[in-house]
Amino acid sequence: MPQKHFTIPIFVPELACPFQCVYCNQKKISGQQEIPSAEKVIKTIEDHLSTIDYENNVVELGFFGGNFTGIPTHEQEMYLLLVQKYITEGKIQGIRLSTRPDYIDQQSLDLLKKYKVKTIELGAQSLDDEVLKQVGRGHTSFDVEQASCLIKENGFRLGLQMMIGLPGDNAQKSLKTAQKIIDLKADDIRIYPCLVIKETKLHELLQQQKYKALTLEEALAETKEIVKLFEKANMNIIRIGLHPSEALTTDKELIDGPYHPSFKELVMTEIWHDIFQDLLKQKHHRNIKIQVATKELNLAIGHKSKNKIALQEHYEVVQFIPNPELKGRDFSVEYF
Ligand code: SF4
Repeated sequence: MPQKHFTIPIFVPELACPFQCVYCNQKKISGQQEIPSAEKVIKTIEDHLSTIDYENNVVELGFFGGNFTGIPTHEQEMYLLLVQKYITEGKIQGIRLSTRPDYIDQQSLDLLKKYKVKTIELGAQSLDDEVLKQVGRGHTSFDVEQASCLIKENGFRLGLQMMIGLPGDNAQKSLKTAQKIIDLKADDIRIYPCLVIKETKLHELLQQQKYKALTLEEALAETKEIVKLFEKANMNIIRIGLHPSEALTTDKELIDGPYHPSFKELVMTEIWHDIFQDLLKQKHHRNIKIQVATKELNLAIGHKSKNKIALQEHYEVVQFIPNPELKGRDFSVEYF
């Protein structure tokens, strides 16, 4: 059995964050979230470990929330110390955490190294300075580049997170951001579409008609090209789109933007749709049999069978066959 990868998530919110990212509802973060206590962290770890076969799988602990290295040093140490026992016992193999690029320096990295942190994820969001300015991130693309290099030089795995559809952004700029992420040799990548959440600056900008959210179609078209670029460079994309529980606890919080619970599946459907374009141009064939890698079968058929339906408009019989010997998006076609 191949090993599975589990991440035990601990959310460490940035209380009273001094920044003003336009898409972030700070009131909600500081009003409803609490810094988790040591007891709460231990309980979360124990609860997760009780349901995971940690002897035969890879288990990591993830400190998420955006700015781990921005919290006071003694609190960082308190959290990191809690995990050491589980690492020594072999129940947890490593720690990953997310933080801001402008909160990385040699001193902060020395601390993380001491406590066996393996992966540091930076919320880069964009590597275009005009976009970063309009978003109010409070850091520049140079900060991201510098922090990324320092993280790699110190032997950590580097995660970079980017967003599409930000104010001042466009498809071309997003592709440039993706290319820079490749150049920075990120080990893990997350791609999120920008959403308009209630009571944010972006909500105001939307009401003042100074911001237009991407439609779902636009977001899919943009993300698909970014994914193709990353895949061509053999980059490791670990997330596409928000997990339903990540930001939107109720429907009422989402005002606008390309949210879809199956965003990744939709992106992959579009990539296969592009691949099948040539098959839709074929004439003189009535029936078609397409073999794809077993793992890709559902994505090739498409979300709600979108790609199969498109092919059925062209062929009388469309058969998709899983082939365990095929890898990635390789496929073979037979006409009959
Ligand atoms: S998203 Fe921006 S404003 Fe919100 S907590 Fe993080 S750094 Fe602060």
